[in-house]
Amino acid sequence: MTFIEKWLRSDIKNINAYHVPESKNLLKLDAMESPFGVPSNLKEEFLEYIAKAEVNRYPDAASAQLKGTLRVLMEIPGEFEMLLGNGSDELIQLLALACNEGDLIMSFEPSFVMYEMVSKYAHLRYQGIKLDSNFDINLSESIEAINSKKPKLIFIAYPNNPTGNAFDYDAIIEIIRTTDALVVLDEAYYAYSDRSFLSEISNFSNLVVLRTISKIGFAGLRLGLLIGSKETIAQLNKLRLPYNINILTQASANFLLQDKQGIVKNAEILTNERQRLFEELSFFSQLKVFPSQTNFLLVHCDDAQSLHSSLIENGILVKGFSLDSELSNFIRISVSEPIENNALLAAIKEYYG
Ligand SMILES: *Cc1c(COP(=O)(O)O)cnc(C)c1O
Repeated sequence: MTFIEKWLRSDIKNINAYHVPESKNLLKLDAMESPFGVPSNLKEEFLEYIAKAEVNRYPDAASAQLKGTLRVLMEIPGEFEMLLGNGSDELIQLLALACNEGDLIMSFEPSFVMYEMVSKYAHLRYQGIKLDSNFDINLSESIEAINSKKPKLIFIAYPNNPTGNAFDYDAIIEIIRTTDALVVLDEAYYAYSDRSFLSEISNFSNLVVLRTISKIGFAGLRLGLLIGSKETIAQLNKLRLPYNINILTQASANFLLQDKQGIVKNAEILTNERQRLFEELSFFSQLKVFPSQTNFLLVHCDDAQSLHSSLIENGILVKGFSLDSELSNFIRISVSEPIENNALLAAIKEYYG
């Protein structure tokens, strides 16, 4: 045994690290990144703006200006406060740190894997409630599980990753109403979704909404936000490391997120492309495409593993699932701009001959 193996918490030794697949020279359609970078007409001004960042100084610990920018971009009412994180992943971890040792975190299955991973890091228990065959919430079963297990924290991805659908709104309201847990509505895909729980924060003291800029074109900046009542955020803020949003992220986001019109337009392009890709993929009798309120599509196919490898051979990386996963017969495809989506469609057409 190596030194570190002897030294490390034994449960950490047995966790598999979050796997990021090799993507060099591949068309990346696996991680819901936006195909749109800094708009070319803004590049010069952007560089001038970030050149002013005083990298010798600590960043603004409160990220005050950036919060104002986010408030305008996401239309966050003045009565709510926000807590910023180095990606929403960091905020998921912060919420776990707010629990007592041994508390239970619940979510739905399949959903975002980080909820379970973070529970383990923080010495918490985790339990997923199985979604029904349409990947929606089975309300009576869920209420029963929640009432008997008494979780401290419930994560609900709305819309859900990796299934792409938005769960029944009223079922979620019912869950928020009945539980004593803090319910975190993870709206990473809010820009592609018809509905949001943002305004419900004023109705339920146990509700917070989590968002990120990763899925709207800025995954590289690592910025997420937790939105809640002033009282809730003031308490949770104590767990945040003081300078967690670095000065280049603050400066970049401050500049780039002003372009609300451009961001909304890009989301519109992707929403239209999602519809087109949905229709075109549905023509393949081998594929079953699931409805999506996100910038990706979940696709069922009996030969998912082989299709996944074949696409890589053709230079296209989509998300595959391991053989022991309940989604082993699925692939998940990020929706991109027309030229990239067409490349994907051509490769799938070639595969099925
Ligand atoms: C991508 C994703 C996140 C992670 O967002 P970051 O801000 O990049 O950490 C969180 N939740 C869900 C449901 C996601 O799909």
